[in-house]
Amino acid sequence: MRLLGLITIYGVLLVLPLVLSAVFGGPPRGIWAEIGSGLGMVAFAVILVEFVLSGRFKTVSNQIGMDVTMRVHQAMGRAALGLALVHPFFYGGSPSGGARPWDATRQLTLSTDMMGVGAGVAAYVLLPSFVIFAIYRKQTPQTYERWRLLHGLGAALIAGLLLVHTMIAGRYAAQMPVAWYWYAMTAGAVATLVHVYLLAPLKARKRAWRVQSVTPAAARQWALTLAPDGHDGLDYKAGQFAWLNVGNSVFSLHENPFSIASAPSAGPEISFVIKEFGDFTRTVGQIAPGTRAYVDAPYGTLAIAGRSEPGVALIAGGVGIAPLLGIFLEMRLTHDPRPVRLIYGAATAGDLVAGYELSGDDVTLVLSDPPDDWPGETGMIDAALLKRVFSQDQCDSWVFLLCGPPQMMDSVEHDLIARGVPARRILSERFDYD
Ligand SMILES: Cc1cc2nc3c(=O)[nH]c(=O)nc-3n(C[C@H](O)[C@H](O)[C@H](O)COP(=O)(O)OP(=O)(O)OC[C@H]3O[C@@H](n4cnc5c(N)ncnc54)[C@H](O)[C@@H]3O)c2cc1C
Repeated sequence: MRLLGLITIYGVLLVLPLVLSAVFGGPPRGIWAEIGSGLGMVAFAVILVEFVLSGRFKTVSNQIGMDVTMRVHQAMGRAALGLALVHPFFYGGSPSGGARPWDATRQLTLSTDMMGVGAGVAAYVLLPSFVIFAIYRKQTPQTYERWRLLHGLGAALIAGLLLVHTMIAGRYAAQMPVAWYWYAMTAGAVATLVHVYLLAPLKARKRAWRVQSVTPAAARQWALTLAPDGHDGLDYKAGQFAWLNVGNSVFSLHENPFSIASAPSAGPEISFVIKEFGDFTRTVGQIAPGTRAYVDAPYGTLAIAGRSEPGVALIAGGVGIAPLLGIFLEMRLTHDPRPVRLIYGAATAGDLVAGYELSGDDVTLVLSDPPDDWPGETGMIDAALLKRVFSQDQCDSWVFLLCGPPQMMDSVEHDLIARGVPARRILSERFDYD
């Protein structure tokens, strides 16, 4: 229902400038010029809404899930680029459709009009570079933090240029209701940046954390535990994730998403299982206890709280165990009456996280590269293994939660769907949005 509400708001925001223009915009022009203006307006509206779809707004991402939020953000960004690129070709040489009359203030009007066109041309050139830079981020020699900064600044610059272009070159923005729509939407976009980069950090500063311990969890994986520093901790559901900033200023862009691997009922401390991967994660083992940390959380929809299915299946690959560990531990701690089965796959025995009592009838450990004396399952988490672990009855009624490498998640999802598990009973978290 809330999802429907969000889709409705999104649709209304995109259609509103068209409706306001149709109602207040005066006599229509030729159909092609109208289509050109319409496409341009929708492109600009999509770009402004993209600021809210950055993944940092819980009202959105905690409703539709972070994966979906990021997929929509990426797809709509590309759609806006397409609309923006084609819209000038509909005017047939009369860009704004004659928005302003040629009068005694000719000189002023001319320079203003040129500014409007110039801003449009600048945005027209910047937008494709901006989208290409986002699509091929990993192929550019950038740190994630620098890319994120450039992405935010670039988006703000393009939005500013498009506002100037729309207000000056756009025929319909000469009407007050339409102009107010653009001012309000642009102000909203700017407000999202103020929220993410200023207000949220200021709030986080009042609720700092301290590193309590960093211990090896498995090969190249660390268990990092934080304790609240003078507050009562975090209100989260097992399986959710946090943006974590350790040892930097609260305003630093150095923050990374990590699933919370602890159980909410275990106490106010929160733990993460972090695999060495890049710049930050490779330094986790050297973090000293007592280091100050900031947590922006909770995010994500990989949770069973509030679900009504009679059983819970957890399927993890590698460090994808982190969020499912939180759920598994929470179910044990709270004596959740629902039956649970955990399948946990890794390459070698040394890659399995230690110290969490992951054994018993409800746990199936799978190694793709097992030692000779390995008593558990071997190979990959494939259809045959899923069939051995889950009966058809369980496939027909349980909720399935997946987290792991993309190929594993894709194939398990495919196998579950083949066994009749509908998409609404398969929840997943991807650690990579690209
Ligand atoms: C929802 C979610 C939950 C995650 N949970 C875990 C977990 O529990 N344990 C774990 O080991 N890993 C987890 N990850 C992956 C983890 O975030 C990355 O491995 C980590 O950020 C890499 O940072 P780095 O500085 O070491 O590497 P870098 O070399 O800086 O980055 C490598 C890649 O990691 C991603 N990344 C880096 N920083 C960010 C950021 N601020 N925001 C989004 N993506 C970023 C980018 O795709 C980047 O290209 C999770 C990722 C997501 C999206």
